[in-house]
Amino acid sequence: MNIKQEFIRPNQYTRPGLPLRRVTAIAIHYTGDPRATAQNERDYFNGTCIRAKRYASCHYCVGIDGEIVQLIPEREWAYCTCQANAYSVSIETCHPDSSGKFTEAAEKSLIGLAASLCKKYGLNPLSGGVIRHFDVTGKHCPKYYVDHPDAWAAFKTAVSNCMAGRPYVLPCSGKEIIEYHVDPNYCDTHGTLVRALGMAYTFKTGALIACAGGATAPFKQVGHYVSNGYHYTTFEAVKETDGVGFYSNDKRVCIGKIVPAQCDTARVTKHIGQMYQFKSNVPLVCGNTSIWRQVAVKLSKDGYFYTKFKAVGHGSAGFYCGKRVAIGTVI
Ligand SMILES: [Zn+2]
Repeated sequence: MNIKQEFIRPNQYTRPGLPLRRVTAIAIHYTGDPRATAQNERDYFNGTCIRAKRYASCHYCVGIDGEIVQLIPEREWAYCTCQANAYSVSIETCHPDSSGKFTEAAEKSLIGLAASLCKKYGLNPLSGGVIRHFDVTGKHCPKYYVDHPDAWAAFKTAVSNCMAGRPYVLPCSGKEIIEYHVDPNYCDTHGTLVRALGMAYTFKTGALIACAGGATAPFKQVGHYVSNGYHYTTFEAVKETDGVGFYSNDKRVCIGKIVPAQCDTARVTKHIGQMYQFKSNVPLVCGNTSIWRQVAVKLSKDGYFYTKFKAVGHGSAGFYCGKRVAIGTVI
């Protein structure tokens, strides 16, 4: 959530400087000014509103595109919610038309902001922690949540779910928001990763990961995507090395080594149904799983991979540690 702080100047009409000593509610509003942006609202409270000698303002304004502008520090009053000004932080929300319905971007930011404020002040949105302007004075604000009491109930639930890091639903559109709270320090690989030239390896991490050495790194990045908030980054071993660091979130998460592949077997012949176990210094795979099916792999303490295959179809197939290291025939 990005909040742009652009405080309005202290003045008696829109920023009186009265100390806000306790916050027991977050008050939700709509601007009632279709298509106005958050910046328009902020500038209005910093200019026209003061010149018009009108007592009004708010702490935050959420824009149609989800942008958030803070106009007044939370330790000061805003003139927004009448008698609730003494105990509430107020949020104005922009909207595209006269129905007062919020855009998905605006409603998502509104829920996120309300959730973070409820957390900060120890408020429960389901029991009075969030209120409508309407609840205080009967004013028809925020219009959509007054016209649609079910949407207001859904809003409170959404804020509660957002606080707990659970998926939540945007009341105006029904869209489900799933935000993943991934530990940026997460890495599925620790210690030493040993590979042979030509082999690929995919890390699952909570943040971007890179191999030291940049463009000439011994592990070259060949793929990257993000799923459920996790990064999946694939590297290919391109140059032998005694040890190179992988870095994620500014920390070294593991050491990579690239060594010549060793396999105890160059050729094996078996009948259908029989097993064979290879010993290699890096993981071994078969090029044709309809001939040899891998049934087990274990890594010994001294760093060797014991990979067991079952002969399941007639023919010959290669076994690979980056390059082909063996041929297995099933008769
Ligand atoms: Zn209002």
